[in-house]
Amino acid sequence: MYRLSRRLFLVTPATLAVAMTSPSWAADKLRVVTTFSILGDMVRNVGGERIALTTLVGPDGDAHVYEPTPADARALAQANLVIVNGLGFEGWIDRLVKASGYKGPVVVASDGISALKAEDDHGHGQANTHAKKGKDHHHGALDPHAWQDLANGRLYVANITRALAAADSTHADDYRRRAEAYEGELVALDRDIRRRLDVIPADQRRIVTSHDAFGYFGRAYGIRFRSPVGLSTKSQPSAKQIAALIRQLKNEKTRVLFVENITDPRMVQQLAREAGAVIGGTLYSDSLSGPTGPAPTYLDMFRHNVSEIAKALKS
Ligand SMILES: [Zn+2]
Repeated sequence: MYRLSRRLFLVTPATLAVAMTSPSWAADKLRVVTTFSILGDMVRNVGGERIALTTLVGPDGDAHVYEPTPADARALAQANLVIVNGLGFEGWIDRLVKASGYKGPVVVASDGISALKAEDDHGHGQANTHAKKGKDHHHGALDPHAWQDLANGRLYVANITRALAAADSTHADDYRRRAEAYEGELVALDRDIRRRLDVIPADQRRIVTSHDAFGYFGRAYGIRFRSPVGLSTKSQPSAKQIAALIRQLKNEKTRVLFVENITDPRMVQQLAREAGAVIGGTLYSDSLSGPTGPAPTYLDMFRHNVSEIAKALKS
């Protein structure tokens, strides 16, 4: 028995070489941590089987109000690469990185995009002022939801690809090849979305959602989004702000309001009732759905949102 186990544990240069190149051996993979499901899906598309991916805020989760767990700190401590959205989206990430002892690169996927200013067109900035008092609220003057424009998505993919190639240069060509194919899908979908939304008359291109997550989508595809809550789901609108919004919705004859997968639908339902509008459906803003839902990937999220918007604004 003793002899047998000795033989089993005997490691020769030849067996070591086989183990090192075997793709099924998890220890061989680049260990990547991303902060939320949408970014995680992009990274998975570029990294494929070459990476072991951990995503901290999963499907239907709200990264704005996320509280990291000890398991998150452990995942970071073992990571080779951390990829975040940036633009103040993950207010908790700096503390988590510090607590975990992780010393590797923290790559900002939104690096290089043309950022939108955080607009506050509902009331007198009360919602944002309120939110800034939160002890870990890092929303600066910029809108963090940049992934809601597929052109930005292509920049995210370029940044992700560079980061993976740098962290694992042996497989750089592999990452670039996968990224190129994925980028082709993003370009094709962007074209398709423009074709679908182009037919909507200009005076109907107005949508209300629960929080301001669609500024980049609106800029890219010519639709005006408005929301009773600020950029972060942490904000709470005042009764006065809600009343002002209802008046405005009635004046503009806004007919459709949308709820979001990550926010409480009651606020929007109340607005719809009082403004005589209807609920158009659920939009996915900051998070994907689970695998059996309507938006399990970044591309599916766009397909779903655009189809809901087109349906609601055409009817
Ligand atoms: Zn958000």
